[in-house]
Amino acid sequence: MKAIILNKPGEFSFIEREEIKAEKNRAIVKIKRIGICGTDYHAFKGDQPFFTYPRVLGHELGGEVVSIEEGDTAHDLKVGDKVAIEPYLNCGKCQACGSGHINCCENIEVIGVHSDGGMAEYISIPLNKIHKSDSLSFDQLALVETLGIGLHAVNRARLSEGEKVLIIGAGPIGLGVAQFCKLQKAQVVMADISSSRLKFIEKIGLSDVSLTVSGSLSDKDLREACEGELPSVVIDATGNKNSMLNTFNIVAHGGRVVFVGLFQGDVTFFDPNFHKRELTLLASRNCLPADFKEIISLIEEGVIDTNPWLSHRTAFSDMPSNFEGFLDPKQEVIKAIIEV
Ligand SMILES: [Zn+2]
Ligand SMILES: [Zn+2]
Repeated sequence: MKAIILNKPGEFSFIEREEIKAEKNRAIVKIKRIGICGTDYHAFKGDQPFFTYPRVLGHELGGEVVSIEEGDTAHDLKVGDKVAIEPYLNCGKCQACGSGHINCCENIEVIGVHSDGGMAEYISIPLNKIHKSDSLSFDQLALVETLGIGLHAVNRARLSEGEKVLIIGAGPIGLGVAQFCKLQKAQVVMADISSSRLKFIEKIGLSDVSLTVSGSLSDKDLREACEGELPSVVIDATGNKNSMLNTFNIVAHGGRVVFVGLFQGDVTFFDPNFHKRELTLLASRNCLPADFKEIISLIEEGVIDTNPWLSHRTAFSDMPSNFEGFLDPKQEVIKAIIEV
């Protein structure tokens, strides 16, 4: 079977791999769509410090089950099912797995990141990591993972109705976060350095207030935009150190800060400011199987419309030549998807 491998930063090539063998408690899924995400762009640029090469990328996957090898895993799958793949393989043995925090398993292996992923014609996946839908399109199935990241971050914040939430970063993760904040009836304030992204978010009704940021967002900017108040929840979806540092200064006293974007280094805070506000700081990593199920139902019910997000697409055969273009800010990519 064909796969696309990232040999080293900046260099993709096609390879021919051996056919995948059936294994107990696993299914073989024919890949139909692959979403491209920030992690993939970083891997390509070579600025992901712990990333190892060569690697087959691809962790946002929609496909069709072509074979199932039974074992002791209970499942509801059959050949021909359309499925989303949960790419976080957990060990099932560590303390985190034992307490249900399988999204941050001590030995987690994210396919397409820590091991080879789905930029290939087929993939073998444990049965309990496969989520089916009778009505979602392959495009929608490939978006479930990205949305899951957003839903998990919002669940970490435990919002109450009408609460003001500032989301920093209007990329695909920020979009997902905004979508679920809206569903949970929060008042959404969106901030980004790109005014065109913010316009897009206003157009699809995901933001009540939009703030274009140049430099740091200030207490004053926010109070002016939000009827004199500060957001009681700030969710950072940038992974930008300065943005993350600044969240401590622009969240209301008694508030919560959620870091869904990841920065590869130290993020420090001034303790008197942290204490004065009695802040709660939360990290959000990956998502849970229940998030996959909830998102699939929400798309099935038409509560979430994913179509406006898919800004770019490419055929599998053209991916290596088109990939670099998606990094160009002029292309205004929100989510690019590969059709296999
Ligand atoms: Zn991703
Ligand atoms: Zn574990």
